[in-house]
Amino acid sequence: AELDTLDIVVLGVILCGTLAYLTKGKFWGVVKDPYASSFQNGSANANKAGRTRNIVEKMEESGKNCVIFYGSQTGTAEDYASRLAKEGKSRFGLETMVADLEEYDFDNLDTFPNDKVAMFVLATYGEGEPTDNAVEFYEFLTGEDVAFSEGSDPALENLNYVAFGLGNNTYEHYNSMVRNVDKALTKLGAHRIGDAGEGDDGAGTMEEDFLAWKDPMWAALASKMGLEEREAVYEPIFGIVDREGLTPESAEVYLGELNKMQLEGTNKGPFNAHNPYIAPISESRELFSAKDRNCLHLDIDVSGSNLSYQTGDHIAVWPTNPGAEVDRFLDLLELADKRNHVISVKALEPTAKVPFPTPTTYDAIVRYHLEICAPVSRQFVSTLAAFAPSEEIKAEMTRLGNDKDYFHEKTGPHYYNIARFLSAVSKGEKWTKIPFSAIIEGITKLQPRYYSISSSSIVQPKKISITAVVESQTIPGRGDPFRGVATNYLFALKQKQNGDENPTPFGQTYEITGPRNKYDGIHVPVHVRHSNFKLPSDPAKPIIMIGPGTGVAPFRGFIQERAQQAKNGVNVGRTILFFGCRKSTEDFMYQSEWEEYKEALGDKFEMVTAFSREGPKKVYVQHRLKERAKEVNELLLQKASFYVCGDAANMAREVNTVLVQLIAEGRGVTEQKAEEVVKMMRSTNQYQEDVW
Ligand code: FAD
Repeated sequence: AELDTLDIVVLGVILCGTLAYLTKGKFWGVVKDPYASSFQNGSANANKAGRTRNIVEKMEESGKNCVIFYGSQTGTAEDYASRLAKEGKSRFGLETMVADLEEYDFDNLDTFPNDKVAMFVLATYGEGEPTDNAVEFYEFLTGEDVAFSEGSDPALENLNYVAFGLGNNTYEHYNSMVRNVDKALTKLGAHRIGDAGEGDDGAGTMEEDFLAWKDPMWAALASKMGLEEREAVYEPIFGIVDREGLTPESAEVYLGELNKMQLEGTNKGPFNAHNPYIAPISESRELFSAKDRNCLHLDIDVSGSNLSYQTGDHIAVWPTNPGAEVDRFLDLLELADKRNHVISVKALEPTAKVPFPTPTTYDAIVRYHLEICAPVSRQFVSTLAAFAPSEEIKAEMTRLGNDKDYFHEKTGPHYYNIARFLSAVSKGEKWTKIPFSAIIEGITKLQPRYYSISSSSIVQPKKISITAVVESQTIPGRGDPFRGVATNYLFALKQKQNGDENPTPFGQTYEITGPRNKYDGIHVPVHVRHSNFKLPSDPAKPIIMIGPGTGVAPFRGFIQERAQQAKNGVNVGRTILFFGCRKSTEDFMYQSEWEEYKEALGDKFEMVTAFSREGPKKVYVQHRLKERAKEVNELLLQKASFYVCGDAANMAREVNTVLVQLIAEGRGVTEQKAEEVVKMMRSTNQYQEDVW
């Protein structure tokens, strides 16, 4: 058969893909991480030009004897990795470096010298998956025929390693990343030092699990490597240079632009986690009629970009910090007067990366790049003790840093962020002695927030919908409630779009027009993350969806898609949605839309509702699921796909339990057997979760 044009295009794409794979991007001249590389402009960063993917060589060249690799999705693992690096250096004089797993190859791990140590800080993402930056590493290490350069056996006999995992026990595959990597390394002959630690986000103990793990680990490492502990001395990783000749008006100064292309106004794709697209919001509105709670629907227009998505994917939103918290932070550090001074931040050693582009201003750093509203880390409190304004405050900080219970008693109920916390400890006294480097090192990079896309890519391929509830918590004894960063920023954007020139949602202000007004006209930086949460490829297959609250987001997309398919004459299978909220009159989202879909889908579509605050007893989706046990079981036997989205901590777990029970009863098998059935459903993707 002759090749037609499409075939040739497809073959071309496959060939390019194969080449890209085989050469691992080496000959492509593209830097994998334009975001990171653009930060180093102007600085003498040795790393930049001859960037190597050979970790052994890199450590040798830069005189390092300890590398801390991280596999991170939301920034926590990366943060822990840099904390380990700092602690190793300051307490034990180790020559440490932090490394993104994505930036190195691992086939020469067998040449890793045995007087050095490799640490792995690995988050597990979603259904036991590696984080995006750890996929290649994970596949290599756990692959069937993992092969190393020297070919000796056992291959990794010389490798000494340390491991810590970040997971969530509400997921089936708790901490599977660190568990599997640890197993693979041991099998290959490597030697683990200390225990493989496991932090649990589900129980809310991640930070404490990490702190409890690391001390015995350091003791074991010190004895193995013959290290002597010394009095910890703080050594800055970054140098701050005043750029007298520059002002915020100078064209080369970053005022919050996320990379060089944004600064120069030459934005172009590919848009991704390193290069977000500044997207116009085409429409925004509220979905609840309740006065005290807010839920947003936003349509993000990506037609001006090459961004694409598939139904079920996630969109990441890059927020900016609220003005009042930026002010509070700068004020406490006595930087308010200097907020628009131009500075360059330079890495004082070749393996460190400045986490934002410079030259820039203090204001831009705090507003656009640091997670200043997040909970306070106890370890950071210990670090900051040395810079307290008085001996008395220092003593209190030391106690707070060392005494877990005291720390939680003092911080727990307040939802303090770092500035509020420091101000409470010092009773308002300013903190003028903290080196700015310590701030950059100790506060996580401002993270994009993910949202389950609530539209269908076949219906609106260039318009991505978001359904998000605005985060707000009243705190006893505190006048202003706690407000989530991204959702309140989005709320302000919505207000502006709907006619409010200077929106101040709940008294908060935002730099809505962005750096140099680049976000004006209601724009928000976004990127798309592909997920495995997908409709069956055959539309005739039945689906069962459990999505209370904002958990309904991806299912709006699913049902929109099926309604369109039905309109196009496609045979669509049974489509059941279990939705729950408080009251049918308050927070029943998309109520009129469901009716439209019903018109298109007819009897194929059924919506089962659970309103928790309408009857005498609280009714949740899992109760409704139980009521429909027989039918659900029958549909599952017909290979219906089963989806759960929303609250990971309670709902998803309870749905799992109900599912086990209904399978046990419906099929006359033991609960144990039914559990196996459910596990099998998960591993074959018949059961999919998108929970957070
Ligand atoms: P943040 O400022 O990030 O705060 C979030 C929470 O962290 C607070 O509620 C609080 O519990 C805690 N916290 C933060 N700061 C402090 C502090 N100083 N002290 C104590 N506690 C603190 N959400 C949706 O609404 N719709 C969706 O479709 C959706 N899909 C998602 C899909 C995925 C894959 C994931 C991972 C998450 C999803 N989320 C979704 C959640 C969303 O990403 C955000 O977490 C959520 O909107 C809150 O963001 P925020 O910036 O407003 O709040």
